[in-house]
Amino acid sequence: MKRLFSHPTDPLAQRIRALKVEHAYRQLPTSLLVNTINGLILVLLLWGSIDVERLLGWLLLLYAVTLVRLWWLRRYLATNDQTTPAVIAWRILFAVGALASGLTWGSAALLLFHPDSLNHQIFLAFALGGMVAGALPLLSALPPAFPLFAIPVSLPILVQLFLQGERLPVTMAILFLIFTVAMLVSSTQFSRIFRESVELRLRLKSSIEEKRQQALLARLDTLTGIANRRHFDEALESEWKRGARMHTPLAMIIADVDYFKRYNDHLGHVAGDSCLTRVAQTMATAARRPGDLVARIGGEEFAFLLPNTSLRDAALIAERVREDLLEERIPHPASPVADRITLSLGVASLIPDDGATKSDLVKAADAALYRAKQAGRDRFAMMT
Ligand code: GH3
Ligand code: MG
Ligand code: MG
Repeated sequence: MKRLFSHPTDPLAQRIRALKVEHAYRQLPTSLLVNTINGLILVLLLWGSIDVERLLGWLLLLYAVTLVRLWWLRRYLATNDQTTPAVIAWRILFAVGALASGLTWGSAALLLFHPDSLNHQIFLAFALGGMVAGALPLLSALPPAFPLFAIPVSLPILVQLFLQGERLPVTMAILFLIFTVAMLVSSTQFSRIFRESVELRLRLKSSIEEKRQQALLARLDTLTGIANRRHFDEALESEWKRGARMHTPLAMIIADVDYFKRYNDHLGHVAGDSCLTRVAQTMATAARRPGDLVARIGGEEFAFLLPNTSLRDAALIAERVREDLLEERIPHPASPVADRITLSLGVASLIPDDGATKSDLVKAADAALYRAKQAGRDRFAMMT
């Protein structure tokens, strides 16, 4: 399969690299534990048939390498540096650790090889083969850690067995060689599958996030940044249903800028746009309770949706919005009602039940707005 992210500076590619390193280090405690226990078992089983100095010397070397890797692991866990140079450095250290471990185990075939006992040779070959097999899932996520470990482990024992020249050890050497090659091939497969699964997981995550962002943007008004008509309609639908379930009133205020056509005609469309943005901001701060929504539902028309709000309370909010906007003192040189931008507002509240529909609420608020306009503008009117 083609690599999904190939560009080195692609943030997702960077994230994948960091995740692979993280995965490898997460597996390291298991590796170190296996090293410690298997090293001890090997030494105990060879006790008496190999020089004690050699056995202890080899075990000491193994434990020293293991301790250094453990120390690196602790350092890695303590840092949170995900920058590319840091990730590369940790990756190199991981590979060096795997190589050091591989060389140590490989040296067992030189230091702990019993030239006369076939049993001991078989046992040693079996132990080293087990180390190679066990390392496959632990090291393959981060190439070339596995070959750096497996080749130094396998080569010395292979040579030793071949050098024996007899049928059985040579046959074992051939089998060991086939086994090692198979493990190396598996490791490349494993690392490819691992990389692809990480890539797919991240790609899925980022596309979900992208869709979420798109959905969010699709519900925002591009000029003012507040909710748009679509968002308002969706909220009306769900709040109406919730009100019906809870038997609580749902209030709506429709607010319309007075004489806005004249404002545009006098000051231009650009000034009109920034005026609408200021109006929207003022309104957004007026809808204070969680669940309250303010949206731009038309050119210079805005609407509030106020769950669990009575007509009286909604009227108080409408008046506050009207006053807040007056306080903003946005000059309107062509308005017959004031020297600044003013609003007319229509207020309605209904308990959603079988007798009423959500369009009744919209119509009631609209009719109230019409009456506020008729009555002289710069005021609110309530549904009758
Ligand atoms: P009324 O007091 O009766 O509401 O009068 P009005 O002039 O506000 O109402 P009318 O419906 O006649 O005109 C609305 C104007 O709002 C028309 C248009 O020029 C302006 N408008 C609508 N959308 C936008 C917009 O996005 N930007 C700007 N700058 N103006 C807009
Ligand atoms: Mg208007
Ligand atoms: Mg209008």
